[in-house]
Amino acid sequence: MSNPISFFENVNKSFDKAAKFTQWPNGILEQIKAANSVLRIKFPLKRDDDSIEVIEAYRVQHSHHKTPCKGGIRFSDAVNQDEVMALAALMTYKCAIVNVPFGGGKGGIKINPKNYSEFELQKITRRYTSELVKKNFIGPGIDVPAPDYGTGAREMAWILDTYSSLHPGEVDAAGCVTGKPVSQGGVRGRTEATGLGVFYGIREVCNTHKVMDKLGLSLGIKDKRVIVQGMGNVGFHTAKFFRAYGAKVIAIAEYEGAIYNENGLNEEEVFQHRKKTGSILNFAGAQNIIKSSDALELDCDILIPAALESVITKENAPNIKAKIIGEAANGPLTVEADEILDKKGIVVVPDMYLNAGGVTVSYFEWLKNLSHVRYGRMEKRFTENMNKQILGQIEELTGKKVNATERAFIEHGADEVDLVYSGLEETMISATREIMETWDSNPEIPNMRTAAFIVAINKVGTAYDELGIFP
Ligand code: NAD
Repeated sequence: MSNPISFFENVNKSFDKAAKFTQWPNGILEQIKAANSVLRIKFPLKRDDDSIEVIEAYRVQHSHHKTPCKGGIRFSDAVNQDEVMALAALMTYKCAIVNVPFGGGKGGIKINPKNYSEFELQKITRRYTSELVKKNFIGPGIDVPAPDYGTGAREMAWILDTYSSLHPGEVDAAGCVTGKPVSQGGVRGRTEATGLGVFYGIREVCNTHKVMDKLGLSLGIKDKRVIVQGMGNVGFHTAKFFRAYGAKVIAIAEYEGAIYNENGLNEEEVFQHRKKTGSILNFAGAQNIIKSSDALELDCDILIPAALESVITKENAPNIKAKIIGEAANGPLTVEADEILDKKGIVVVPDMYLNAGGVTVSYFEWLKNLSHVRYGRMEKRFTENMNKQILGQIEELTGKKVNATERAFIEHGADEVDLVYSGLEETMISATREIMETWDSNPEIPNMRTAAFIVAINKVGTAYDELGIFP
């Protein structure tokens, strides 16, 4: 039996497909693909029952064309070197597409966090951090981790505390990790960032005449029929923003089943119902779909898989009726499914940039940490006072008064969350346009995924080229 192709090889295969459309010499392409530094560590953990276990962990810095490196840390018993290398490579390309000035990185600890107490998890995280410090694999200007599968704000706070205690007096220490709690230097808007980024990205696709004409859809988000798979962090917030902007979320799928209502579902009510009853099924006014994955095959305009990888395969791809698929999850389509959907003319908006909201807002968090000031603190009052003055003058000159809602809107000075949303919106709109323009530039480019890779390769290639290759 032949060995199945590894995850890292798979990423490089997609890279090679796109590289053919670029002008870079082979040497530069090989350098872009290479994982620059790979750290594998093993360390002992004394467990609560006094036994000793050896923990295996990794940190990969895929590219140093820009520093620091950036990428999450996952806790999973499926972690291995190949997976961490592949995920770090994807971070390089993702950061390049959304113009976040970092090289790609990724970390992993080979544990199932459910099998460890909180105290044990804290010991593992702190020891991992001190190993990264020893090897110079962490720091605000070196390598900046973030949450990923199995980790969250709690682990990031432990990382910051360990790093800071080993670097007393380092004024920028808070920038050594992102995804922190707000009290520890985190930024407002980080929780919903990925879902909001997915929404902004798809909205821009829906505002593109050429694509919508080809799909036979009207321009804009309003009244689009959307199906979301997964009511976790990403799926919930994606559904929330689609509904807020006038789309109808007609079906929501969770692992125990799915629900359908042609008139639209309210994700907050669905979330509360699931919390109360333990299941998404039997939601008032909605029809139950017992086999959850059947929801993916319903007629709709936009399908958002936001649960896990490989949910659309060569088996169900022929039955997909959506016109647009937004890859909120990482790798929701298999390679075979991708080819089938391409042939059907479905527009697949690729994960590599669509779910980049998290890393984009992480970048804003890092900037906040380095500047030591909350976004909006310096200008909020000034803007509000200025807006009040301008509005007052207009009202006096016209003899007319605006209503209270309009007044509040016009006078409002930007808070941190307003600025984070605005920065994310700009990022996702620009990235979508750049990918669309690249896709348009050559009729041989088969889809948005290849176009996104081309954008990434050109940006990293330019950086390496302009850095010069040293003897
Ligand atoms: P999460 O754990 O909060 O949510 C996942 C949800 O999917 C859960 O509610 C789970 O019950 C549901 N689910 C699991 N199996 C399912 C199935 N077979 N059918 C339907 N629903 C199922 O995770 P998340 O943070 O929302 O991440 C979701 C995806 O988005 C992952 O692929 C992740 O890698 C990717 N992603 C997340 C972020 C982020 O900022 N959280 C950033 C980039 C990419």
